[in-house]
Amino acid sequence: MLRFSIAVPGCLLTAAAMLCFMDFAGSLSQSARAGVDSPADPEQLRPMPDQMPDPAEPPGATAPAVNQEMDQALVRKAVEAARVASRNAWCPYSKFPVGAAVVTGDNEVYSGCNVENASYGLTICAERNAIGQAVARGQRDVKLVVVYTPTEKATAPCGACRQVINEFGPQAAVLCVCDSESRIEERLEALLTQAFGPRNLE
Ligand SMILES: [Zn+2]
Repeated sequence: MLRFSIAVPGCLLTAAAMLCFMDFAGSLSQSARAGVDSPADPEQLRPMPDQMPDPAEPPGATAPAVNQEMDQALVRKAVEAARVASRNAWCPYSKFPVGAAVVTGDNEVYSGCNVENASYGLTICAERNAIGQAVARGQRDVKLVVVYTPTEKATAPCGACRQVINEFGPQAAVLCVCDSESRIEERLEALLTQAFGPRNLE
């Protein structure tokens, strides 16, 4: 754009000057993409694969909320419910079955699995499904969310699910388990900082 705004009729630039200017404009354009203090080569801006953050590791320190505050028999019951629910996952597109279970204030366990759709955007995650099961039975106080994936590494809830968990369990503990010893144990507030919730609308 800059190049064309200057090269208007009446500006008699020599071919050499024009070439110099094109080089200059090109470097300007590169600088704009890369940032003034960043290297111009876009390849240098991308983190290498071994520098990428591990998606299974959430930010923040691990909170021992599940071990300290929860009835361990109830936790085991929820883990089992999540594991069983994952077997019913409808995930022909991602082939990534997930089971989830929530423990509510009355110490009941409600479970759900991910349900995908040929119209991908209509897919619902296991966590939201489990919360829907609880709410449909009149339970709106979520204390614990368990996520089970049949994988080697535990998987944390996606952002959408964190937001939905916040609606019914802003103080909830989140426990993610899998088929190895890998686990994620966090409070929701560590997974969703500065959350927007019902109080923002009061
Ligand atoms: Zn989700």
